[in-house]
Amino acid sequence: MEQGSAVTVGWKCCGKRTECPQKHNMYVVFTAITGTTADCPQTGRSKVTTPRQDRFMRRFLARTVETVPDTLKHVLDQETFTKARLYQLDKSSFGFWHGLYSQFETTLILVFGGFPFVWWYAGEVTGRFGYGPDYEILQSLSFLFITSIFSTVTSLPWTVYSTFVLEEKHGFNKQTPGFFVKDQIKKFIVMQCISLPVVSGLIYIIQIGGDYFFIYTWIFTFVVSLLLITIYADYIAPLFDKFTPLPEGDLRTRIEALAASIDFPLTKLFVVEGSKRSAHSNAYFYGFFKNKRIVLFDTLIEDYKPPGEEEKDKKSEEEEDNSHKDSVDPAEAQETKTEEKDEKQKQQGCTNDEILAVLGHELGHWKLSHNLKNLVISQVNTFLCFMIFAFLIKKTVLYTAFGFDTRPILIGMLIIFQFIFSPYHEVLSFCMTVLSRKFEFEADAFAKRMKKASDLKSSLIKLNKDNLGFPVVDWLYSTWSYSHPPLLERLKALEKTD
Ligand SMILES: [Zn+2]
Repeated sequence: MEQGSAVTVGWKCCGKRTECPQKHNMYVVFTAITGTTADCPQTGRSKVTTPRQDRFMRRFLARTVETVPDTLKHVLDQETFTKARLYQLDKSSFGFWHGLYSQFETTLILVFGGFPFVWWYAGEVTGRFGYGPDYEILQSLSFLFITSIFSTVTSLPWTVYSTFVLEEKHGFNKQTPGFFVKDQIKKFIVMQCISLPVVSGLIYIIQIGGDYFFIYTWIFTFVVSLLLITIYADYIAPLFDKFTPLPEGDLRTRIEALAASIDFPLTKLFVVEGSKRSAHSNAYFYGFFKNKRIVLFDTLIEDYKPPGEEEKDKKSEEEEDNSHKDSVDPAEAQETKTEEKDEKQKQQGCTNDEILAVLGHELGHWKLSHNLKNLVISQVNTFLCFMIFAFLIKKTVLYTAFGFDTRPILIGMLIIFQFIFSPYHEVLSFCMTVLSRKFEFEADAFAKRMKKASDLKSSLIKLNKDNLGFPVVDWLYSTWSYSHPPLLERLKALEKTD
């Protein structure tokens, strides 16, 4: 679902820096290694790129449609519609300028021979430590390190703007500057720890693998991606966010019963403190075979409080009561309290019934093997890519076109995977988007068969409202780039009697 994407075999990320500041970088490493496409737990989108004309289309719609269309009147009020519209407009212009900047940056790097220069400089650096041009792997690592510092620095102003200006303005940002800085540093270190060894491994295999190296590189990336998926949940994700087990209670008991009713091997049930980052809400599940976990964002649950904080709150309320008794007259104190309560009630989130419906949808993805199907497709794709790569890697013309007179393996990977394959990836990504929409409808239908249609409908409407999703879509735009069907189409499908 739009804000409830699930994955069994990995995390998901839209790969859009603007909308997914959290895991974008991780996604890049992950996809670069595995060729896997994935969805973002925050935005639920899986597209890596958004063609510029599409952004224009969104902008155009957000600009021209100013009042709630009749078809949407039962779904949201004018106030929310206007908020969503303004949020959409801001996101679109940000996306446009960011996209334009990236285009300029890449063009300048290519025109002025940025890659050969950095490659040369990387060689200079390793040379200073006594390792000459024969040490290709070391030079490659030095190259990667320098380029990732460069891209971190150049993307920083955009990330800062997106987080502290754009998201802040629309009430979504919850990060403090300190949290943000720590987060960026951690992300950079984790990225290096994963990408440097993996790239070394790949280059080494290609060096010694002979004519059929593509088979070994495929096996290698497959194993690495399984390994990453296995350790991600326990060792990587907790570095960035706090995961606490969902406390005992009605919600927990009912989720466990739901999982048991369809033989879902649920082993752990977590709440992630997404609210430290942003007010966007979501739910997902992951894990291998018999070891599955469900994660709910705290922002998804109505009046959720982390275990320790509930007591703290009670205490402070009591203290407040006492101080009120001393100084203020009781009627006034009562008034302040109700106001506070109202504020709390405005808080976003779903009821238990709705959360169960969301999970009904997510478990539908599992029951219908959607993630397994995606994994198989991505592995076949990775294999094919490596095969074509093996054929192209010896073509000198590719290297000379990019300003190289030698043929470093890493540069070959960069040119072929990033530039030569890009039209093919665009087509593939479109096919995956179409498939993903089909899966979404199937998962909705699954939830409907579990008698959760009406709760799913209300949760979809609430989540769309909480996340300020702009519900007016252009059919061509949505066909091309929505990994999830538009809200209205899903509601209609859920209403249909079969
Ligand atoms: Zn879904």
